[in-house]
Amino acid sequence: MTKLEDLGEVISTDVLVAGSGIAGFPAAIKAKETSPEKDVLIVDKATVGWAGLAPKGGGVFWCIAPEDDLDKFVEYHVKNIGYYLNDQELLYLNAKETYGAAQQLAEWGVKVQRDAQGKLLTGHLLSSRWSHAGADLDMISLLSARARKSGVKLLSKVQIVELLKEGNRIVGAVGFNVIDGRFYIIKAKSTILATGGLNRTAAMFTPHYGEGVAAAYQAGAEMRNAEFGFLIHPRVKGGGNIPNLAFNIHNAAGEYMAEKYMPEVLKEEIYDTAILTPAFVVGVFNEMREGPIRVDMSRTGPERGGPPPELNWNRPKQTSYFTRLRKLSKYSRPAPPNPEAEIGLAAGCSPIRVDHEMKTSLEGLWAIGDTSYNGSAWGGAVCMAPGRMRGSPLMIGLLGGLRSGPAAARAASQAGSPQINYDEVKRLKDEMFAPLQSSQGLLPQDAIQELDGIVSPVENGFSRTKDRMEKVLSRIQGVRQKCSQLYAKDSHGLMKCNEAKSMAVCLEIVFNAALARTESRAYHYREDYPERDDKNWLKWIIVKQEAGKTVLSTEPVPIDKYKFKP
Ligand SMILES: Cc1cc2nc3c(=O)[nH]c(=O)nc-3n(C[C@H](O)[C@H](O)[C@H](O)COP(=O)(O)OP(=O)(O)OC[C@H]3O[C@@H](n4cnc5c(N)ncnc54)[C@H](O)[C@@H]3O)c2cc1C
Repeated sequence: MTKLEDLGEVISTDVLVAGSGIAGFPAAIKAKETSPEKDVLIVDKATVGWAGLAPKGGGVFWCIAPEDDLDKFVEYHVKNIGYYLNDQELLYLNAKETYGAAQQLAEWGVKVQRDAQGKLLTGHLLSSRWSHAGADLDMISLLSARARKSGVKLLSKVQIVELLKEGNRIVGAVGFNVIDGRFYIIKAKSTILATGGLNRTAAMFTPHYGEGVAAAYQAGAEMRNAEFGFLIHPRVKGGGNIPNLAFNIHNAAGEYMAEKYMPEVLKEEIYDTAILTPAFVVGVFNEMREGPIRVDMSRTGPERGGPPPELNWNRPKQTSYFTRLRKLSKYSRPAPPNPEAEIGLAAGCSPIRVDHEMKTSLEGLWAIGDTSYNGSAWGGAVCMAPGRMRGSPLMIGLLGGLRSGPAAARAASQAGSPQINYDEVKRLKDEMFAPLQSSQGLLPQDAIQELDGIVSPVENGFSRTKDRMEKVLSRIQGVRQKCSQLYAKDSHGLMKCNEAKSMAVCLEIVFNAALARTESRAYHYREDYPERDDKNWLKWIIVKQEAGKTVLSTEPVPIDKYKFKP
């Protein structure tokens, strides 16, 4: 008689959390607090407690202070950032809960900035319109200690590759140890994906490949707002970045682009580059075609912006990390006088569709943080981190964790024991380990580089036309097919193979959605449809996979029931 144990190590848990970042830990801790008798397991392909983007970032949290005007915030966001594709109810809910969420983080031991009386310090970073809170960069190791104390089990160095299904319900996942190659079958009554999104860019130093997104898509979960993931940023030609650069570039005629294309932002003296409007980005892109654009920092010195005094920004780990980073990176290199500028592109994708409790369209599966930043639709037609709202990715991850943990724990209490099909697991295992059977073919890093090369040119990734996108899509599909020839020498190489495959799947989702949206909205810019079309396109595009085929549909945004309408 065949047993699952013959295939690999079998673990049973009530709640499985895949990914141990700012989304995963709060989910695991909350699940355990909700149902202390339940088993909660957190798994990461890196080292739990040190992994994820939060320890390598800015530590800035979007945090609407009690004195801020919630209605004004939501109205501004819907009109100027989400362009009416927001789930306005979720946007309200998120905004309302930011302050309490930051307080919860502090109660768990994270060093969120507070005053002598313990009250959260909030302020307007970079003179931004909305307030922020800040935490030091040891937040993940502190959350890890808290999770361990509350009884959450931790498993490092295991890459989750596929989700397990029983009918339409997700009942866990399979993966392998990226060091010793051991195969894992994790049975779970509830599964929370917190594995981050696709995040590829020359300027960011912590790439992600969207494995959780790809696994959910291949299991049949719906994706939403995938066409809006890409982030565009001006930089010094060749990749160098300077604070405030966007506010200091001019065209060949000496006109300052910020003045020309976003005078309303300059008028308010906001120097937050997250605020760059689509009109500005499109303007810069078109001017670049006319001739070189250049930087002149005498305009708005890099000293403008930064933390306001009321934040009392005292975060030693963040300061030392960024000081070291500046020394190492080309960010710090002094630019030649008036260097040429260009637009850089970051390919992002976080489209898993979720409801207000972060549940996906599949039973037993939740998706939080960067897996569903766009798919939850709170932000509308918005690019990925920082999503034109500084501090929103960390806060959205945290909020998603706080909501999904209790929901997943409650669902686990009502679910029966998962029944796992041996033949299906055997098939998944054989497929997963196939690259180790070959010693020649395609190396995963070559596949990743080829995909980067296809989407990074601004005219492919940002400025879209039907013809170009069809070509891009067919090239991505070509790489996806070639992935059957991937080979790996060891478990680490095998992990890279899964990353390459996942990246191809994610990019296919993005360009399928982008082809369908025949209008321009936010950073989804179509040269062949340059106008926003509210008459036909107040709709979400839903992409899913059925019987191995991509299926697209649209769903009207329920704008009649929302407060803010175009
Ligand atoms: C340089 C930089 C600065 C930033 N600064 C800020 C800021 O100041 N404020 C802000 O709000 N946002 C900021 N961000 C963005 C923010 O850090 C991220 O959006 C956020 O941390 C994402 O959290 P997450 O938990 O969803 O995902 P992640 O932190 O990416 O965690 C995902 C985890 O899943 C694991 N994982 C991935 N795939 C698998 C798999 N297949 N199996 C098992 N484990 C897997 C990863 O190892 C990782 O630990 C910054 C990002 C960068 C890169």
